[in-house]
Amino acid sequence: MSDAKECLFCRIIAGGIPARIAWRNDELVAFHDVNPQAPVHILICPRKHIATLDDMGPDDESLIGDAIGAAARIAREMGHAEGGYRVVLNCGAGAGQSVFHIHVHLLAGRAFGWPPG
Ligand code: 5GP
Ligand code: ZN
Repeated sequence: MSDAKECLFCRIIAGGIPARIAWRNDELVAFHDVNPQAPVHILICPRKHIATLDDMGPDDESLIGDAIGAAARIAREMGHAEGGYRVVLNCGAGAGQSVFHIHVHLLAGRAFGWPPG
C-alpha cells in the first residue's frame, strides 16, 4: 500500500497534479477520471489518505457515507438521477483497485450490466 507522500490521489488533492475537479468541500474532492468508463466517470476521494476500505478506522466510516452522498448529489445535479447511475468502490487489487487512496467511482450516462466484470 502506498503512503500519503507518494500517493497519486493525495498529490491531485493537494493540487500538485492537475485534474478536472468536479466538486470539493473540506473533507472530499471529486474529479473526473482520466480514463473514463462511462460518459460521466467521477472519483470522489476523502482528502485524508486511507489506502483501502479495509484500512479504515471507525472514525473514517462517515467519510464513505459522505462520499456516497456527494456522488448522489453530483449525479442528480448532472441530470442522471432518473436515468440511473452506478457507484463503485473497489477494495484491494483482487477487486480491481489500482490507486491505493480510497475513492468512490460515480459512473453515469450509459446502461450498466450486472454482474459487473
Ligand atoms: P481503482 O481501479 O483504484 O478503483 O480506480 C482508480 C481510477 O483512477 C481508475 O479509474 C483510473 O482511470 C483513475 N486514474 C488513474 N490515474 C489517474 C490520474 O492521474 N488522474 C485521474 N483523474 N484519474 C486517474
Ligand atoms: Zn493518498
